[in-house]
Amino acid sequence: SPGLYIVATPIGNLGDLSPRAAHILAQADVIAVEDSRVTATLLRHIGAKRPMTPYHDHNADAVRPGLIARMGREVVALVSDAGTPLISDPGFKLVRDARAAGHAVVTIPGPCAAVAALTLAGLPTDRFFFLGFLPSKQQARAEAIAEVANVRATLVLYESGPRLAACLAALAEGLGDREAGVAREITKRFEECVTDTLSSLAARYADAPPKGEIVIAVAPPGEAPPPTGEDADAALIEALERLP
Ligand code: SAM
Repeated sequence: SPGLYIVATPIGNLGDLSPRAAHILAQADVIAVEDSRVTATLLRHIGAKRPMTPYHDHNADAVRPGLIARMGREVVALVSDAGTPLISDPGFKLVRDARAAGHAVVTIPGPCAAVAALTLAGLPTDRFFFLGFLPSKQQARAEAIAEVANVRATLVLYESGPRLAACLAALAEGLGDREAGVAREITKRFEECVTDTLSSLAARYADAPPKGEIVIAVAPPGEAPPPTGEDADAALIEALERLP
């Protein structure tokens, strides 16, 4: 039936396209896409050929009203190049306006790099805070990191290979040297997740910027460890030494 269908697509392994996602894409009257070449590959994989229309940051405001109008009588699907639309990808205004216009909004959930990385890193998952991409400029990045330094949750962020080492160093500087995981090429042939402290990870990648797509997960701030007997003795001795 007509409406807006938010369709998650694979983040590397075409086998992760769900049967329901394939079903919707194969019957969509129009698919709003980031890059038609990327989506064309996906459509070939399922043996479908459907009309596509570009929907990205640069044309979204101009093409949105037309898409909203079509949803009343047609199946409009939204995909991004990889993963779940709206998650560090365009789409939220399309959903907002579709709802405001009274159209059906249906989600076909599936792969999302942030959630996939959380399942690999071995860090707490009961609370997590998704930061998307940090600003690329040094000062703005430091400010964004400072803002979340006290958040008691695992932090999850997207990053590119060339910027990885600098980003890890900035995280160590702004958050303290916490445990972290760097997940790369998830669901692809060279998938890996390396876990270590932020400073060790920064050193590891400084000389050899990794290829491919990356998610960083950072452990929540540690509890301040309770003072030990030795700490108390040392403090007492120090205090005694300072007595007149
Ligand atoms: N909407 C997508 C999702 O649900 O994951 C994210 C889109 S965002 C523009 C692209 C970023 O996601 C990449 O720069 C990378 O940080 C991360 N990413 C996407 N695919 C990945 C993969 N297979 N392995 C690791 N990170 C990935």
